[in-house]
Amino acid sequence: MVTAVYPGSFDPATFGHLDVIARASAAFDRVVVGILNNSAKCPLFSVEERVKIMSDATKGFPNVSVTSFSGLSVNFAHESGAKVIIRGLRAVTDFEYELQMAQTNRVLAPDVDTVFMATSLEYAYLSSTIMKEVALYGGDLSNFAPKEVIDAVVRKILSRGVCNNEQQD
Ligand code: ADP
Repeated sequence: MVTAVYPGSFDPATFGHLDVIARASAAFDRVVVGILNNSAKCPLFSVEERVKIMSDATKGFPNVSVTSFSGLSVNFAHESGAKVIIRGLRAVTDFEYELQMAQTNRVLAPDVDTVFMATSLEYAYLSSTIMKEVALYGGDLSNFAPKEVIDAVVRKILSRGVCNNEQQD
């Protein structure tokens, strides 16, 4: 029984994330999506809202569960009984940071390995940040995320706008 965790901000879930989750759920016995409660970022959605959005979007996968976590991904992996951390790679720009994180995590926890999933070509450009940016200016979001997620993004942006000091994801 191999469990993998898929940690990230997921603010909110996109088709890119869901594609990685679908492929991971076929490759591993159990996948635990971990929504990072990260106070350094300024998320559009609270961690509880992000868990709800991701749970709804992944309810078709019986071996996928969604939870929030704080702190180190390797600790989250240990707590989840996972030996694998999944990360998605979109472009060369992701690679340097992701490699450094994977190597750091291996120093911290030699029993946990990082597995990179190359993005599907149709989602290579897609990030939560890009989706929120397009939403802010009223663009069509239908290629970026399921309808329920789009509705939540539009509602939230109309009510409060996106956070100004948001970092790239
Ligand atoms: P983080 O803040 O940890 O980068 P994100 O929510 O942006 O969290 O992304 C979570 C994970 O999903 C990361 O490994 C990221 O590389 C991956 N990811 C994001 N968008 C895509 C995409 N379009 N295709 C494949 N992987 C993606």
